[in-house]
Amino acid sequence: MKIDDLKKSNRVEDRRGQRSTGGGFGRSSGGGGGLGTGLLLQLLLSSGKGKWLILGLLLLTFIGGGSNLGSLVGLDTGGYSNTYQEAAESSSTDVTDDEAVFLSKVFQSTEDFWTEEFASEGRRYNPPTLVLYSGRTSTACGLGDAATGPFYCPGDKKVYIDLSFYRDLTTKYNAEGDFAMAYVIAHEVGHHVQNELGTMKEFSRARQQLSEKEANALTVRLELQADYYAGAWAKYVGGQGLLEPGDIDEAMAAAHAVGDDTLQEQAYGRVVPDSFTHGTSEQRRKWFDRGYQYGDLAHGDTFSGDI
Ligand SMILES: [Zn+2]
Repeated sequence: MKIDDLKKSNRVEDRRGQRSTGGGFGRSSGGGGGLGTGLLLQLLLSSGKGKWLILGLLLLTFIGGGSNLGSLVGLDTGGYSNTYQEAAESSSTDVTDDEAVFLSKVFQSTEDFWTEEFASEGRRYNPPTLVLYSGRTSTACGLGDAATGPFYCPGDKKVYIDLSFYRDLTTKYNAEGDFAMAYVIAHEVGHHVQNELGTMKEFSRARQQLSEKEANALTVRLELQADYYAGAWAKYVGGQGLLEPGDIDEAMAAAHAVGDDTLQEQAYGRVVPDSFTHGTSEQRRKWFDRGYQYGDLAHGDTFSGDI
């Protein structure tokens, strides 16, 4: 994908190198406020391994005025001790600056597209925020963990990308190329679009009445719609002449690689259709492709009829 002429998003929270501690759900007191000296002392005293984190925290307290610390530290939980080791881990899997720029530009491009697309339907698009993080981070949906892969949190309207997933795409899932990553971002933004349109709320309500099996089937439809939206965005950048040969294949390969059947087969050596929550590789490719064909909101109804 050609990104030289694209502008960067100013809606990116860069939490690379920060380490969140245990818990993560909510902040019962002083959310976003500074970290008390007493707590710092307690931290200092309770572990010898965390000295680098503590130095970092102290620095952040002084440099950052503590504005970030509410999200950096689970103030309301007691699980400090088991998180220090992580804090001292190396950050070799972090996104590089070049990658961060790429992600930021792709993210801005999705905002441009959806702003236009919503406007054409007489709607206003409120864009999400992109969070780049390492390891774990606090979200309105609980503790974000790199192990879960990229995700969107409807509660804070943020897309969370851990860079280790970036590496996994190429090494573990064999989906090489920058556009594979662009597709992943566009898919997560697709969930934000669902949130904006109220689809997410309807989905959550409907889901509560269903058996686990039925709920999974409904989740598949939600996921396939996000793939459709990713495809719609791909058509938009294609129209701008930003796609390079092979880009769509990269996205398709990524859609295939992260399809539930492929992942399950890799993990368990077999496929369990009832537990699909993202759709099969074939379905994911199909809906991405359909989005790429139509490039609009109108043809993305994955909730009725055959998928
Ligand atoms: Zn998804």
